[in-house]
Amino acid sequence: MASESKKATILIVDDMPINIQVLAGGLKELYHIKIATNGEKALEICADVRPDLVLLDIMMPGMDGYEVLRQMKDNVRTMDIPVIFVTAKGEVEDETNGLNMGAVDYITKPFQLPVVLARIKTQLILKQRTELLERMVFIDGLTLIPNRRWFDDTLEKEWGRAIRNQTPLSLIMSDIDHFKMYNDNYGHAVGDDCLRAVAAQLDATLKRSSDFVARYGGEEFVFILPGLNNDEAAALAEKIRADVEALNIVHAYSPVSDHATLSMGVATLIPKKDSNSRMLIDMADTLLYKAKNEGRNRVKAMDTGKQ
Ligand code: GH3
Ligand code: MG
Ligand code: MG
Repeated sequence: MASESKKATILIVDDMPINIQVLAGGLKELYHIKIATNGEKALEICADVRPDLVLLDIMMPGMDGYEVLRQMKDNVRTMDIPVIFVTAKGEVEDETNGLNMGAVDYITKPFQLPVVLARIKTQLILKQRTELLERMVFIDGLTLIPNRRWFDDTLEKEWGRAIRNQTPLSLIMSDIDHFKMYNDNYGHAVGDDCLRAVAAQLDATLKRSSDFVARYGGEEFVFILPGLNNDEAAALAEKIRADVEALNIVHAYSPVSDHATLSMGVATLIPKKDSNSRMLIDMADTLLYKAKNEGRNRVKAMDTGKQ
């Protein structure tokens, strides 16, 4: 989380070059500055660059600032970007209107630069805090990989996408073998270290940005692999299993290996409209159970006649 030292990006939207010059001049030492001289361009930059804050003029030819804000709120990519109106429209009604539409602050021209800087700083701190809290809600505190809640959200999204595109969606359910023995013999703190090391390795093995791994619970980890068929997902599972084995985390009390190992179940579906993603989890769970029964430290994929 390097965000503290990272310079924030601020988009200045104004049709008058002189206004932009004054604002940009005062801000450019502290922030990265982007500039738009009309509403359309502002929306484009917001969706593209996703600035940390927008300073938005209201009176502009064509699309005015109110409309820019309305359209920003309509788009998931831009709806959370804070907007401060900087405007000559100084009536109580204008300001109330702007704030009611979702602007975080309202500054009237002519403005005092130090006041603008102080207000910007406040909004950026608030934004950073909100983002940190949001991350904490979705990250497992022990392993620092996504938690069950993030998994649930991601699975719903990918399930919907796979239905729309009629593409395969693979899910791997994995579980550390004889982890109770590990905990009982090495202690809970060493058990925690093992979970952290395994999680870091799982995360490191995934290469595609669409692949996702989460801690499902206890010593269980779950993967979502959009677009992979069962053979491809099974090959990836085998790589993950081997990478974890290669960590060489000594487990002298495991009946199946000298080291900590994973059992994995790999399920794939091209989901039908109105079907429930629970199906895919249950399938992967059943295959994981088979992997355990057949001796652990192995990958069990769907029965395609080949295995
Ligand atoms: P199997 O091979 O069948 O999966 O056997 P197992 O011993 O791994 O399975 P079991 O479900 O019996 O035990 C899981 C253990 O995981 C029990 C619990 O103590 C441990 N565990 C769950 N969460 C944590 C955690 O956050 N930290 C530590 N250290 N241990 C945990
Ligand atoms: Mg286990
Ligand atoms: Mg378990």
